[in-house]
Amino acid sequence: MRAILLLLLAFVAACATNPVTGEREFTLMSESQEIAMGRESDAQVRAEMGVYADPELAKYVSDIGLRLAKLSERPSLPWQFTVVDQPAINAFALPGGFIYITRGILPFLEDEAELAGVLGHEIGHVTARHSVRQYTRTIGGVAALGALGVFVPAARPFSQISEQALGLLFLKYGRGDELQADQLGARYEAAGGWDPAGVPGMLSTLGLLDEASGDRKGIPNWLSTHPEPLARVAEIKTTVSTLKAGRSDFVTNRDALDRRVDGVIYGDNPDQGITRGSTFLHPPLRFRIDFPAKWEIANSPQQVVAKAPDAEVFMLLQGVSKPQGASPRDVAASHMQGAGFRLVSGDRATINGLEAFVGMYQGQIEGLGDVTSRAAHIAHGGVYYFVAGLVAPAAFDQADGAFTASIRSFRPLTAAEAQAIRPSRIDFYVVREGDTWASLAERSGGAIRPSTLAVMNHSAPGASPRAGARIRIVVAG
Ligand SMILES: [Zn+2]
Repeated sequence: MRAILLLLLAFVAACATNPVTGEREFTLMSESQEIAMGRESDAQVRAEMGVYADPELAKYVSDIGLRLAKLSERPSLPWQFTVVDQPAINAFALPGGFIYITRGILPFLEDEAELAGVLGHEIGHVTARHSVRQYTRTIGGVAALGALGVFVPAARPFSQISEQALGLLFLKYGRGDELQADQLGARYEAAGGWDPAGVPGMLSTLGLLDEASGDRKGIPNWLSTHPEPLARVAEIKTTVSTLKAGRSDFVTNRDALDRRVDGVIYGDNPDQGITRGSTFLHPPLRFRIDFPAKWEIANSPQQVVAKAPDAEVFMLLQGVSKPQGASPRDVAASHMQGAGFRLVSGDRATINGLEAFVGMYQGQIEGLGDVTSRAAHIAHGGVYYFVAGLVAPAAFDQADGAFTASIRSFRPLTAAEAQAIRPSRIDFYVVREGDTWASLAERSGGAIRPSTLAVMNHSAPGASPRAGARIRIVVAG
């Protein structure tokens, strides 16, 4: 009993020395706890976001990150750098040295020095233990968990993923933490031989992207977690000049980054399923479904969640494994019972030629409370798809028409239909007389806005593309 109590105390009140400032501070975690926590969340990040399948790009990013990390105050952490398969523009760090950048951020970085700037900045959040402090605050209940449930309260009890671990990534850092991470990033960069102006460079570019310009839903973008980038450009200037004084050997390696960015997927990756308006299509799994018009759709490898624009009305789509010989009714019964839901009424159905069981259920969802659900278990391609509308019981009658229409829209994709769905990709192009950002953006088939394309090419606001310049564009698949 006493031993357990002591252990608990040690956990709650560990006093550690901050590796960057040298000051003693209270944290909830020792370094080994920090690493263990990061490792556990790393598995969830990979499962939920997906790892981008480009081994050369992965090695390129990892080599740069590791070189920077070895020059930091905590070289012996188990550093790991991962490109996640997300269209959002973001980068983030977990305690223990687990760092992620999205494939979406890469084409917006001008050169390798800016990439090193982003990685150095995230390394700074880890070395200065900001990520641990965030975790400590979260667990301490000081920081509201509000940020976590922004989009996915409907995930539980149907999800295996802990939203808490993922939500932790997207709490806003304080301004002081941001400035310190910028300083540290610039220092690591310079020590590694990259131009430390990469830090203000990436801040300027990312600061020009509208917070809402993610263009798509899912994980939030960099601006929502790293505040005031443009104001920070001024604050890092002195550090950069000091680091650059008397040196002329820093590199930016623009060509090296260009080579890796060429061909990278822009926007949704059809291998994970893509959204076209309110329709969700999954070419490898060969199905499509229409969610209600104007709903926001968030896709992850584990599930698709759709949400009504201004109401707590959700739809959820997940794969459910198919026990040998089980009927649609059996699958629905065991799945819903497992989630704590009670069948009110239901029957077998055929949906666009697919066997299904459609029922009305009552249960509870974390973050929503009591809900009534219209849910289908649809057999397709050797598994079952669970498609469910979820809403407070009082609003069910009003929502049920939309739920049922969506469920009824689930249908297989033919091989030809699946093959016709190709991702947009980054390409290079030499500007001709008369080209405008709008005319160049058209080549993407609507995947990128003209203003976003201009920011991608570091064009001054309002300026036209310069004839003869080699620029990045987005081309439709
Ligand atoms: Zn930051």
